[in-house]
Amino acid sequence: MTEEELPQGEHDSEGPRFEDFDLAPAIQKAVARVGYETPSPIQRRSIPPLLEGCDLLGVAQTGTGKTAAFSLPLLSRLDPDLKVVQMLCLAPTRELAIQVAEAMETFAEDIPGLRILAVYGGTGYTEQIRELKRGAQIVVGTPGRVMDHVKKKYMKLDQVKAMVLDEADEMLSMGFIEDIEWILEQTPSDRQTALFSATMPKPIRKLADKHLNEPVEITIEVKRENAPNIRQRFLKVRPHEKIDMLSRILEIETFGAMLIFARTKNATTDIAETLMAKGYPAEALNGDMPQKLREKTVDRLRKGHVKVVVATDVAARGLDVDVITHVVNYDAPFDLESYTHRIGRTGRAGREGDAILFVTNKEMRMLNAIERTLKSKCDEYKFPTLEEMNERKLGEFFTRMEEALTSNDLTDYRQAIQKFLEESGKDSIDVAAALAYLDAGKKPLFYDEMPTAPKGPKRERRERDGDRDDRYVNNNDLQSYRVEVGEYHGAEKRDLVGAIANEIGMDSKFIGKIRMFKDHSFIDLPKDMPKEVHEALKQVWVQGHQLNISVDRGRPRQEGRGGKFRGKGGGGFRKGGGFRKGDGRSKSGGGFKGGGKFHKER
Ligand code: AMP
Repeated sequence: MTEEELPQGEHDSEGPRFEDFDLAPAIQKAVARVGYETPSPIQRRSIPPLLEGCDLLGVAQTGTGKTAAFSLPLLSRLDPDLKVVQMLCLAPTRELAIQVAEAMETFAEDIPGLRILAVYGGTGYTEQIRELKRGAQIVVGTPGRVMDHVKKKYMKLDQVKAMVLDEADEMLSMGFIEDIEWILEQTPSDRQTALFSATMPKPIRKLADKHLNEPVEITIEVKRENAPNIRQRFLKVRPHEKIDMLSRILEIETFGAMLIFARTKNATTDIAETLMAKGYPAEALNGDMPQKLREKTVDRLRKGHVKVVVATDVAARGLDVDVITHVVNYDAPFDLESYTHRIGRTGRAGREGDAILFVTNKEMRMLNAIERTLKSKCDEYKFPTLEEMNERKLGEFFTRMEEALTSNDLTDYRQAIQKFLEESGKDSIDVAAALAYLDAGKKPLFYDEMPTAPKGPKRERRERDGDRDDRYVNNNDLQSYRVEVGEYHGAEKRDLVGAIANEIGMDSKFIGKIRMFKDHSFIDLPKDMPKEVHEALKQVWVQGHQLNISVDRGRPRQEGRGGKFRGKGGGGFRKGGGFRKGDGRSKSGGGFKGGGKFHKER
C-alpha cells in the first residue's frame, strides 16, 4: 500500500478539522458528542466566514450538512444571557423548521439558558407566545407565522444579530418572498445574513443582492464522474429498517468484501456491533481509531480475514482494496462527489463492482441528483426470489468446482478416490455428491425457504423466553413516556411500535397506549426500564427523528406495583435480557433537552 492509498484519518492534509475552527467550546463538545468526524464540504467553507461575521450565500441542498454549517458558527456567536430574539431562521415548511430547531437543540445542549423555539402555522399561538415571553433567543419558523407574531407584537426583531434563510428557492416557490422581504426589513440592517438555496433563480439572486452585505459565495461543486463498471442500485428504506435491510443484503449478495458507509464515527461502531451480534463478523473503520489500527483493519480486509467493514468517508478516503466487490451507502452521502468517491472503492483495477444506496423519503433528491447529474443509472434493488437464489447457488457451486479442478494439484485425491471406487464399487457421481455434501458442512445445496438473517444469541434468548412468557401486562406496570416524534414527522403509531419492537427487541405486548401529537407522542411502556434500554430507546430513529424518550412528567402518573418485571429473565427484550430495576429516568423532563419548548398540544 502506498502512502496515498492509506486510509487517511481526520488529521490528514485534506482540510480542516472541527477543532481547527474557533467554535465556542460548548459547540465543539456537541460536535464531538454527536460524532461528526470531519466537516462536510459546505461546513468547511461556511464555518470560517460565518464565525467572522460575514454574510454568506450558499448554493447547497439538504443532505450536505448545511444545518450544522450555519448553526455551529452562528450559535457560537450568541449571548445566552441576553433574553431577546438574537437569531431568526426562516424555513419553507414546519417540518424543516422543527428539524432545524431540533438540530440546534442538540448543538446547543451545553449552552445553559439558550432557548430555541420553532414557530409554524397550523397550530395554536398560546405556547409559542409563552415561549417568546420567556425569552427565546433563537426562533426557527415559517415566514407566515413569524410575520404574524411580529405584526401582533409577540416577537421583536430589533435585536436580531443573525438571520438565516434556509431553502430560499423553496420559500420562493411557496410564495413567501414578500413575507421574507417584510421580515428582513424589521431586522437591524447590520445583522449577519446567511442564505441557502439549492438553485439560484433570479428573484433569489435579487433578494441576496438587496439584503446581503458583500456575501461570501459558496457553491458545492459536483464532479461529473462516471463509473461504468459499477452497477448502481438503490433501496428505499425507512430509517429504522436499515439494519434489517443490511442484514438481508449480507445474506443474499455474493460478495468478496463489503464496505458500508455511515455518517458518523458512532454509527460505524454501532452498525459493526449490531452486525456482530447478528453473527456477521464486521469491523468499524473511523477517524477515532489510531492510524495503526486502521491499517490493520484494511490489511485484514485485503487478506480476506474480515469481509465487512463499516467506515466513515474520511477513514475510507483513497482506500484501494480490490477485493471490495460491494459498497453499501447505509447513510446517504453529503454530496455527489462523496457518492462517486464512495462507490469508487469498488470496481477497482477494472473489475466489476456493486453499489447499493439506502434512501429514505427525505433523500430522494440525492437519488435524482445521482441519476440526473452523474448520468448514472440506478435500478431499484430487488430482493431475489427463492428460484433466483437457488440458481445463483448452483452457479457458485459450478464455479467453485471449476476453480478446484483447474488451479490445484489433485493427484493424491484422484488416486485416493480411484482406489475407493475400485474397492467399494460405488458410482463415481454418488461419490462426488457425497464429497460436495461434506464440503458444504453437510448442508443442502438449495435453500428450501428464503434465507434470513441468522439469529444472534440475544434474539434467540428473547424468543425462547418470550415463548415461555405468559405474563399479563396490566396498566399498573406501565407508565407514560414522551417521545419527540409525532405526526408532522410523518410517523404513525405502527412506526413507533415497529421501531421500538425492532430496534430494542421489546415485545409489543409491553407497548401500551399511544397518543400522537404534531411533533411528539406519548406512549405507555413498562416502568423501571433498565437504564441501557432507556438509553437505547433515546437513540431509536423513526421517520428520520430520534425518539429522545423521556418520562412524561406532564401529568399525574398512575401508581401501581413497581418492579414487577425485575429479574424475570427476558421480558421480551433482545438487549439486556429483561427488565432490571434501574434509574431509567431521563434528565430532560418531558420535553426537549434544554427546556421543553415544543410541547404545545398537551
Ligand atoms: P443537513 O444537510 O443539514 O440536513 O444534514 C444532513 C445530515 O448530515 C444530518 O443528519 C446531520 O446530522 C448530518 N451531518 C451534518 N454534518 C455532519 C458531519 N460533519 N459529519 C457527519 N454527519 C453530519
